[in-house]
Amino acid sequence: MTALTLTQGDITRVSADAIVNAANSSLLGGGGVDGAIHRRGGPAILADCRRLRAGHYGKGLPTGQAVATTAGELDARWVIHTVGPRYSQQEDRSELLASCYRASLRVADELGARTVAFPAVSAGIYGWPMDDAARIAVETVRSTRTAVEEVRFVLFDERSHEAFAARLRTTS
Ligand code: ADP
Repeated sequence: MTALTLTQGDITRVSADAIVNAANSSLLGGGGVDGAIHRRGGPAILADCRRLRAGHYGKGLPTGQAVATTAGELDARWVIHTVGPRYSQQEDRSELLASCYRASLRVADELGARTVAFPAVSAGIYGWPMDDAARIAVETVRSTRTAVEEVRFVLFDERSHEAFAARLRTTS
């Protein structure tokens, strides 16, 4: 049984076996949580990302998939990079967002990570409405079979924290 927990704050300061990065497909850094992870984790993360781009992910990491690198100087052992979809009013991309959580947990299982911290993937620069992002995150983690013992959602501000808290209070 996986425990779902909630913290408000900066995910780069969280102690977990793995922290998840809301990356973009280039894997070469960006704004938001991605920028914060690379800044605080140091150059080793980017070096690993470049190796991935030179190898299996020559065209970048596809939306909805996940891949791990070192966490560099962060407290975590690994960073799991996942690429959320941009929000669209024309097209329902919920399945791709759910896939980010499932794929990240699969990578965590492969690594043997027992605690994993997630930000609100897609709910920043990619524009996903926070309440819906929280719904998809919580429903997906609840319905995914994994050996991860604790999934901690780390929300940057009070509004996003409240959106996740409200969703965690629901039973299904
Ligand atoms: P995306 O491009 O997937 O939308 P962003 O990084 O822009 O990713 O935003 C995802 C969420 O992460 C947003 O809610 C944003 O406020 C939040 N965020 C930004 N920096 C941090 C951080 N250091 N720790 C935790 N969450 C963060």
